[in-house]
Amino acid sequence: MKILILGAGPCGLGAARHLRKLGLENWQLFERSGHVGGLSASFVDSHSFTWDIGGHVLFSHYDYFDQAVEEALDGAWYEHQRESWVRLIDTWVPYPFQNNIRHLPQDALDKCLEGLRALTGDPRTAPNFREWMDTVFGAGIVRHFMEPYNRKVWGVPLHEMSREWIGERVSVVDLARIERNIAEKIDDVNWGPNNTFKFPQRGGTGAIFSGIARRFQERISLNHELAEVDLATRRLAFLNGRHEHYDTLINTIPLDIFIELCRDVPDKVRKAARNLVHNGGLIVGIGVEGERRDSKCWMYFPEDNCPFYRVTNFHNYSLWNVPDGDTSRFFSLMCETTYSPHKPVCREEIVETTIQGLVNAGMLSESERERIVSRYLIDIPYSYPVPTVGRDAALAVINTFLESNRVYSRGRFGAWKYEVGNMDHSFMQGVEVVDRILTGAEEPTFLGSI
Ligand SMILES: Cc1cc2nc3c(=O)[nH]c(=O)nc-3n(C[C@H](O)[C@H](O)[C@H](O)COP(=O)(O)OP(=O)(O)OC[C@H]3O[C@@H](n4cnc5c(N)ncnc54)[C@H](O)[C@@H]3O)c2cc1C
Repeated sequence: MKILILGAGPCGLGAARHLRKLGLENWQLFERSGHVGGLSASFVDSHSFTWDIGGHVLFSHYDYFDQAVEEALDGAWYEHQRESWVRLIDTWVPYPFQNNIRHLPQDALDKCLEGLRALTGDPRTAPNFREWMDTVFGAGIVRHFMEPYNRKVWGVPLHEMSREWIGERVSVVDLARIERNIAEKIDDVNWGPNNTFKFPQRGGTGAIFSGIARRFQERISLNHELAEVDLATRRLAFLNGRHEHYDTLINTIPLDIFIELCRDVPDKVRKAARNLVHNGGLIVGIGVEGERRDSKCWMYFPEDNCPFYRVTNFHNYSLWNVPDGDTSRFFSLMCETTYSPHKPVCREEIVETTIQGLVNAGMLSESERERIVSRYLIDIPYSYPVPTVGRDAALAVINTFLESNRVYSRGRFGAWKYEVGNMDHSFMQGVEVVDRILTGAEEPTFLGSI
């Protein structure tokens, strides 16, 4: 059986590595760009600052993935304590926001508490994400943080999103704990799966995936952009004129694009693919001459005094993210802004509006603004696969059709499941689908049963 893989992001590389580990020979990976890593790649700009495509933090759900990371980096990583904060009303609130509202000005704190004490409704029956928020956080927290922040990140009306994806992704509420934190002035920051994280010493997050790919690079064909898929004859055509036959195909490119490139797709499948919703992202890297003593890792910005929803103190992740590895002379801020048809953003102005936003939000002083030495913009048309209310029904139609044609679509935009769309999940979707193809094993990550 000849297996072809489309896309050399974490998912395609997970599949490839697993095929290599199993000792299989009849497979090949094709990638559009001239490098591996996909959305998890990194770049060095002309001023020697390293940038990721937005703040990437390794969550660790799987021993298999951890082992691949450790093998790829061969000990050359730093281990960091997660430290994330929310910026609003000229105040810093440790994340998770609801557990630390004692940092808010009194009026806002009172409103948040009032909302929490007046909670009504059952989150399990909320019809969408927006209404789920009301039942879990109450009016004050929704108004100050949840609603404006999520509007900024997702860039779609929140009532069009489902609540089923939430799981461990949003820290929920324990009123007694919050009241105790306020009374005893406790900073309660130990939530979630990512309390510590590894980061490569050199080369940014992308070093993980170039390290993984190095072991089978003769099997990766770069600069191969998919142009057409003939499902009936199982042939792929690439823009560079190459054609390839497959028996089984693992797709990791965005599912809606993949379906558009397939010949002879039933109307209901095409229609389902067109119903999938995503947003885009503008990642702005700002490299500054100067020292920044601030231990925060990443920060959330719900307010509209800045375009971005998140900023990473990227110099804190590795000193080699700045020129000469000299964090006493340089620092780097990586800022993420969402765009979508509901939330248009001017690409030509985003660097300047980001810098102004950093000043407005108290992240950059006027004198630091004068010492900006690098401005780096990355535009990613596919940033977040949005879990809309109709998503699962659309995916069921598409996947039934594709799998009957021996095509398995996996990964962040291949599967279109945000809740299992991080690096570790995407990588493991690639690993697990190989087992599924070869042995019929279940795919816990793709099925959401991890
Ligand atoms: C802003 C942002 C922040 C993130 N933060 C985190 C984080 O903190 N932690 C975390 O774990 N994850 C994070 N992620 C998610 C992480 O980037 C993804 O999980 C991961 O890159 C998905 O891997 P993938 O292989 O499924 O898809 P991708 O990385 O999208 O790879 C798909 C590959 O397919 C290729 N391709 C596309 N079209 C074609 C074509 N026509 N022909 C051939 N090849 C094609 C692409 O070039 C790409 O290399 C973040 C993502 C974003 C956008």
